[in-house]
Amino acid sequence: MRYIEAFRDPAVAAPLRDRLGKLGTALAGKAGGVRIMEVCGSHTMAVARYGLRELLPPNVALISGPGCPVCVTAPGYIDTAIELAGRGATIASFGDMLQVPGSAGSLGEARAGGARVAVCYSPRAALDLAKADPSREVVFLAIGFETTIAPVVSLVDLALRERVVNLSLLVSFKLVPPALRAVLSDPELKIDAFLCPAHVSAIIGTRGYEPVARAYAKPCVIAGFEPLDILYGLCGILAQLAEGRATVENLYARVVREDGNPVARAVMDRFLRPASVRWRGLGVLPDSGLVLRDEFGAFDAEKRFGITVGAGREFPGCLCGDVIKGKCIPTQCPLFAKRCTPMDPVGPCMVSVEGSCAAYYKYERGKQP
Ligand code: SF4
Repeated sequence: MRYIEAFRDPAVAAPLRDRLGKLGTALAGKAGGVRIMEVCGSHTMAVARYGLRELLPPNVALISGPGCPVCVTAPGYIDTAIELAGRGATIASFGDMLQVPGSAGSLGEARAGGARVAVCYSPRAALDLAKADPSREVVFLAIGFETTIAPVVSLVDLALRERVVNLSLLVSFKLVPPALRAVLSDPELKIDAFLCPAHVSAIIGTRGYEPVARAYAKPCVIAGFEPLDILYGLCGILAQLAEGRATVENLYARVVREDGNPVARAVMDRFLRPASVRWRGLGVLPDSGLVLRDEFGAFDAEKRFGITVGAGREFPGCLCGDVIKGKCIPTQCPLFAKRCTPMDPVGPCMVSVEGSCAAYYKYERGKQP
């Protein structure tokens, strides 16, 4: 059996499913059932793809959270990128951002209308674009969570070393723990525990969740993205709830360490400082993001072009904001699979490969909620 298949072995899944059932029975008296939020879009996709929701006890619900970087980027960010393209800059971006709707269109539509929008497969490609034509400004769309922030912001280091002066970053970096606090602070959402993202945890370590678990007395369990990892993680969560515990538990110890990745965090700390930033669905959260430090202001597209990213406008009827914070599931959006499909998406949750609406559309359409 290949290494990866060991984490998809049905013979191992069956006892985990049985354990979930027993733990579900032990928690049957909990009013309103058990509500677990899988924070990360990669978990959302894996849950849908492998049909894991069907293995849950009836009193346990798995709810998608704000862990898809494309989905939580507010429409005003797209508007700003389009505005910069209109001013003659080349916008360099990973491909999935092109389809995300802003207030009045997407970058893909702007490109069809003649704007210079280049798809990059790495941040380095943006640097190469800038070097290829020093007379033209290149703006890289720098979005992401802890997982990708260090390699993306390293672009500034590369530009400094290679003396590239026509490159800047439109920064929308976000941090997971403040989003967890925001979710737990909303009494409507009633989240009992978090299934924490594997790759973010590889950077922030188990320590990154300690303040959240302590302050709100909610289990935070780190699990990998393979089906057995997820089932194992869910067993860990239900066991904690059944025993009345609320700790940070690392069930992805083959990758995640207590102190995460100090090298990546040092890179982040060198170039970035905490700031209050806007999230789709959650609004502006204190110290929930990172922005470039003042000494790197020349690489900050907002400063360079004298432009400020605003909130923008959501498409009328799109419930992405509620989907992101677990207030509803995608099939409860009236536009789901009608006006909004992956071929013609209305909101980012249908665009992103980690989006909840895309996951439901691809794997769980037609199933009972
Ligand atoms: S189905 Fe489309 S419109 Fe509705 S919440 Fe999802 S992305 Fe937004």
